[in-house]
Amino acid sequence: MSIGVFFPLGLYSVFLIMDYFRYRNKELYCEQIQVKTLAKLYQTPLYIYSARSIREHYHRLKNAFPQTLICYSVKANSNLSICRLLSDLKCGFDVVSAGELYRVLKIGADTSKTVFAGVGKTREEIVYALKNEILLFNTESIDEIETINQCAKALKKIACIGLRINPDVSAHTHRYITTATDETKFGVSINEAKIIIKNIHHFPAIRLVALQMHIGSQITSVLPYLKAIRKIVPLIWIARKEGHFLRYLDIGGGFGIYYKAREAKPASKFAEKVLPIIKKLGLSLIIEPGRFIVGNAGIIVTKIIRTKQIASRYFIICDAGMNTLIRPALYDAYHKIAPISIRQRVKKIRADIVGPICESADFFAINRLIQDVNKNEYLSLFSAGAYGYSMTSNYNSRTKPAEVLVDGRTHRLISRAETYKDLIRLEEHGPST
Ligand code: PLP
Repeated sequence: MSIGVFFPLGLYSVFLIMDYFRYRNKELYCEQIQVKTLAKLYQTPLYIYSARSIREHYHRLKNAFPQTLICYSVKANSNLSICRLLSDLKCGFDVVSAGELYRVLKIGADTSKTVFAGVGKTREEIVYALKNEILLFNTESIDEIETINQCAKALKKIACIGLRINPDVSAHTHRYITTATDETKFGVSINEAKIIIKNIHHFPAIRLVALQMHIGSQITSVLPYLKAIRKIVPLIWIARKEGHFLRYLDIGGGFGIYYKAREAKPASKFAEKVLPIIKKLGLSLIIEPGRFIVGNAGIIVTKIIRTKQIASRYFIICDAGMNTLIRPALYDAYHKIAPISIRQRVKKIRADIVGPICESADFFAINRLIQDVNKNEYLSLFSAGAYGYSMTSNYNSRTKPAEVLVDGRTHRLISRAETYKDLIRLEEHGPST
């Protein structure tokens, strides 16, 4: 069986993002390596990423959006080796904290292709970014612009900024990943933007070079992007009339991937609608994809600790939990789950697939139809490459898993599993009471 059981290969896959997690002779492989080998070698839970999938997803975007600055959204998966892989492809970065910028610097990436977003940038973070010559700050309030102006003045620098517009458009995605309605904290409203654009000349160390939006995540229709861009276009004319030399329209990230089946749209479907508008506007385009590049390029392998029945419910209890992958608990997210070894003629059962954490929200699937599995077998949680490891925690004092990057026939540990010592290392040397 191949992953084609879930997502038929062939013509369809030519256009869509896809990955290199496939079944061969009923065993799951990541590229050329059997997943079971990795699970035994590195122990579970274990994150496994396919370098080939990451490269391919990046190239799909690059081909669909030529002459566009692609700034990978580091929050999706901030592992240094993954960022380095993308930097080697000449990808830029979208960061939301000084910590993420530190990662970009650590891999020696070109900061002139880094954009910095977020509603709560501190003075220290702004200074750090200015000193490291980022491309621009995507600003979200007049107070932030004022602070950036002060910091830039003190450093005798000019700060380039984008203004993040909240176009009040619903992207029809989960409410926790909706970011562009007027009930969310992000950006400034269209009316406020008009006022800010007219007043930016009061900030001598600021250059407005971009308008930006990010309307949400896991968006599978191009319509919300078009709606939002249409709302922003009049602001571009206002900015020009006010004498601002706009260079970019940054439409953020949000391009959807497949979790269940065919929900993902090919990058070209977005590009063919968006690019003609950008061309007419005489601007360069920036996109900030995260999930699209890494989401389908990673899985989690987890071992079944035991199974148990309570009244009518059957539970499969895994060694991964909400501390390993919080998306189901946080967003009610769906992840395909399957054994890494498919057994023949095994009946299917309905089960709740859960972790060991002491919370009822600690589940990966409820009442899911799955091949009957036993203690010590391994399951794969698919599409876990984005907002997986970057959202892990030590809740219940559980250690974080290792991450492995597979590239063809080779595999490499790109982050080791934590030890119990790691769990307490920040507390050990604190003041004694
Ligand atoms: N840009 C900004 C400003 C974001 O907040 C996010 C995600 O929250 C992204 C880009 C990346 O989104 P996605 O991973 O859906 O592409």
